Amino acid sequence: MGKTARSMMFGERDVDALLETHAGRIAALTDALHLARAKSEHSSPVGAGTPYDSIWALRFVLSHDDDAEALSAATRTLRWREENAEMLAAAARGETLERFAPMERLIAADYHGKTLDGAPVYIIRAGLSNTMAVMAANKEDDVVEFMMYRKEMGAVMCDERTRRTRKLTKLLTVNDLNFVSVLHGTDKKFQKVLSRASKLSEDYYPQLLDRAVLINVPYVFSAIWGVFKNMLSAKTRAKVAICPVSDTRKGDVRKCPFAKLLDLSTIPSFLAGECRCKGGCVRGVANDQKTLIGAMTDDGLIAHNVPARGKIDVFAEVDATDAVAWRLLVEKGGVEVTATLRPAGWRKGDDVSKCTTLIRKFKHRDGDGTKEDVIVSPGKGTIAFTFSNAHSTWNSKDIKYSVDVVGGESGAAKEGEKETETDPTDLTDLTDLTEDKRESPAADALGEDLRAMQLEATPARAQTEVPSR
Ligand SMILES: [Zn+2]
Repeated sequence: MGKTARSMMFGERDVDALLETHAGRIAALTDALHLARAKSEHSSPVGAGTPYDSIWALRFVLSHDDDAEALSAATRTLRWREENAEMLAAAARGETLERFAPMERLIAADYHGKTLDGAPVYIIRAGLSNTMAVMAANKEDDVVEFMMYRKEMGAVMCDERTRRTRKLTKLLTVNDLNFVSVLHGTDKKFQKVLSRASKLSEDYYPQLLDRAVLINVPYVFSAIWGVFKNMLSAKTRAKVAICPVSDTRKGDVRKCPFAKLLDLSTIPSFLAGECRCKGGCVRGVANDQKTLIGAMTDDGLIAHNVPARGKIDVFAEVDATDAVAWRLLVEKGGVEVTATLRPAGWRKGDDVSKCTTLIRKFKHRDGDGTKEDVIVSPGKGTIAFTFSNAHSTWNSKDIKYSVDVVGGESGAAKEGEKETETDPTDLTDLTDLTEDKRESPAADALGEDLRAMQLEATPARAQTEVPSR
């Protein structure tokens, strides 16, 4: 898409030209706010030397054709900002609040990457976010506040970039609907939260949202959308872009014009980008994950039911020599365990011989207790653990597991751990280490060292997928 087409699509963005065009209305708005402040209707600073200046006022003027409406929205916004000063300050510093922690763990959404114009991108992995669990454990008001906290972070980024580049910068949100189940559609409590947050955002963050892109939209949703869109205001509807790309994990974004505006080198692999952050691009959820973020049990294990004839895959993004600690407990019966390293950039359908077996298939049974082990990755890529129940025709299996990347060579050196003698390129050695650990005293010592390291390191949590659901 050419520059002209883009500027036509997104309108005028030259801040100085906009300030000049709307100078009269901006002055009227800031004067009125100053006057109100003098009458102490609100005590927020308004004017030069603060973020509440003409550039701040410009967004209100652009969003409201009527001066009185612009003033009313700006006044409400200032009052709200005063009441939420603590949360807004935390967002501006990039810090989180303790009360958000239980939500952040369950919602796979965050700022990651940028558009070709350098604007921030907010990525929501709707199919993985466990909104039911969020709503079960948190008050509606707190969840709304959390949404606004994330919005403020984007506003701060956009404002900073606007001032630096003199181009009015707005957010692009990308909502990945891959793996969204019908269950989500019935999550009324969370939909209420979303609707409240979006209403507040329209008021308090004018001209912030550029486009809300829905990508990997399931067929059923596309059909519903034709009806649903008529219930939205024209303003909101105009900002929503639907991209019925079958699956961006396969790298296809050609059918999505808005995805073409993304700087794909900064965008996660599940959206056809090139980024594969260690531990996962968005909130430490593995890029290859396909299922809801699990709620963890007290012992730090994730409980999961493996269906009859089914399996679950758990992924961990690793660098060479990273140690991965894993645990497995089967409630009744047994599951077959394997672990394979997929090299960086490998996708399903690529040459399987490029993958390296790290754990040869073995069966772990209920009588074996909790299996605990550490493997060291021989290379950069994705380790896929498979807990398979394919052998069982009738019985599903309840398992508990954890897979944590606990640190690499540099971490070991920092802790003063003994150097391992393993050649990271020698795969045979590593497989042997994993499987013959109990027989070999040297290997056992290595395992102990890695476990000690695990206690020191902050784990990056790995995540799960169930292929058939
Ligand atoms: Zn990333």
